[in-house]
Amino acid sequence: MSTTSTSTTAAATVAEHAADTARPLLAESAAGHHRILTGDRPTGPLHLGHYFGTLQNRVQLQSQGLELMIVIPDYQVITDRDRADRLAEHVENLVLDYLAAGVDPARATIFTHSSVPALNQLMLPFLSLVSIAELSRNPTVKDEIAHSRQAAVSGLMFTYPVHQAADILFCKADLVPVGQDQLPHLELTRTVARRFNDRYAAIFPEPQALLSDAPLLLGTDAGKMSKSRNNAITLGADEDETARLLRGAVTDPDRRITYDPDHRPGVSNLLLLSALCQGRDPHQVAEEIGDGGAAVLKRTTTEAVNEYFRPLRARRAELATDRALLRETLRAGSARANAIADRTLDEVRAAMGTF
Ligand code: ATP
Ligand code: MG
Repeated sequence: MSTTSTSTTAAATVAEHAADTARPLLAESAAGHHRILTGDRPTGPLHLGHYFGTLQNRVQLQSQGLELMIVIPDYQVITDRDRADRLAEHVENLVLDYLAAGVDPARATIFTHSSVPALNQLMLPFLSLVSIAELSRNPTVKDEIAHSRQAAVSGLMFTYPVHQAADILFCKADLVPVGQDQLPHLELTRTVARRFNDRYAAIFPEPQALLSDAPLLLGTDAGKMSKSRNNAITLGADEDETARLLRGAVTDPDRRITYDPDHRPGVSNLLLLSALCQGRDPHQVAEEIGDGGAAVLKRTTTEAVNEYFRPLRARRAELATDRALLRETLRAGSARANAIADRTLDEVRAAMGTF
């Protein structure tokens, strides 16, 4: 089980651990064997952490023929803030980011929480399956409360992981590509599925997390890169903005550049980012920079990021002019998600013996 998402845990160690479990799963996956569900809160545009943490895996799995569902949890925006600002704009821009990254709108089911009432109803029986103590010790909820913009913890924030269990289980997804911060939530989803199956009827799979080689990409402040923490480089950022943000990234004064995520999180994160963009090993990138110091490291990273994301950014700019496609993708996704959610809710009602 992971620690909190703010921890600057050794990305390499986590990545090695993740790879142990993730790679065989990817290798053995075949079309029709898995249903993937994952999502991103509409709190702002997607960033490099999303891309290397989960989005790249989603696209890869879809290209292998697996069914991909993406929830845009608009109700979850108000877990850590009073108002959901510019919600429609954020939702559309998430769809834009997905399509620019290679998600196929014809095959993926992309939808918002608020458009699927039956999904949200599952939260009621699911809430009865977990204890207050279990919710209280969830490290990701603790971390999100620490970064919350609200003075008091709302009931919605506290029960966030149960809502997420409904997101995943409504469509009986069995594979969930996520970042490291989501592991405690996934564990709770597995608990909910197991308890429901034991108590009523075996309806739900126990889904597995799929971590990438960058399950916790750090932001420019060396904390978890997040949409809401003012430390992110977005997918749609232009090359100058990327350079400016990376110039301001937290590193350390040691001129010798080494890959040491435990002791040098800022430096190692930039090395990891360069390596991911170039398909290389971060140690190799470090050796090449040698005594060049943070300035050379930042320049190298900027070039690698801009080079790698140039085609995605061009595609994004092109797609941005087709708002009708974005809205149609959501409309079709919502229709598909509603049909699935209605079927599952019927099964749940039958299992529970409701009228
Ligand atoms: P917010 O600050 O609004 O919570 P976020 O940047 O944390 O936004 P989420 O929408 O909460 O993004 O997360 C969407 C998905 O992206 C989750 O699977 C999460 O684990 C993953 N993810 C988010 N940030 C990172 C990151 N820095 N590194 C790897 N994966 C990440
Ligand atoms: Mg988050």
